[in-house]
Amino acid sequence: MRQGRVEVIAGPMFAGKSEELLRRVRRAVIAGRRVEVFTHRLDVRRGADRVSSHAGADHPARSAATAAEIESMADPAADLVAVDEAQFFGPDLAEAADRLAVRGAVVVVAGLDVTFDRRPFEPLPSLMALAERVTKLTSICLVCGNDAIFHERVSHAGGSATDVVAEHVGGEDKYQARCRVHVRR
Ligand SMILES: [Zn+2]
Repeated sequence: MRQGRVEVIAGPMFAGKSEELLRRVRRAVIAGRRVEVFTHRLDVRRGADRVSSHAGADHPARSAATAAEIESMADPAADLVAVDEAQFFGPDLAEAADRLAVRGAVVVVAGLDVTFDRRPFEPLPSLMALAERVTKLTSICLVCGNDAIFHERVSHAGGSATDVVAEHVGGEDKYQARCRVHVRR
């Protein structure tokens, strides 16, 4: 019987999460596994039909609006289900990932685990608790060069901080990586 599991790749912006997701996708493809890649429909930055990394890697992807859509769209025979931009799918993603893994898939979920104002960003914290494997990546603080676990807004133009999901859609040029010492408090 196939043994599924949940793998989480978490961190702030600019940490290389999509690159790590795509690395695991490439390995599965080379191994002849059946792979499905999803991203969120809100992720309009790079076109909805691909997941791409800042380092230049990319892979075809399907876009979904909800975790339930991922579950219904995913081929039941898929060996690996990869989900990028997981922070946009909300708390339902944790249960969806669990069900896909029980069905036998390796579910790899990549997303922001922290908001621009230093708060845990669900569903990543829950997914990290319920995963077999967690990879926490850091970025590089633009002030000092040390490990950065945060990203902060460099522009306050527009938007309301009350909708944290909307605040994180697109516009990575609005954010910079910061370490614990240099993040704005
Ligand atoms: Zn720093």
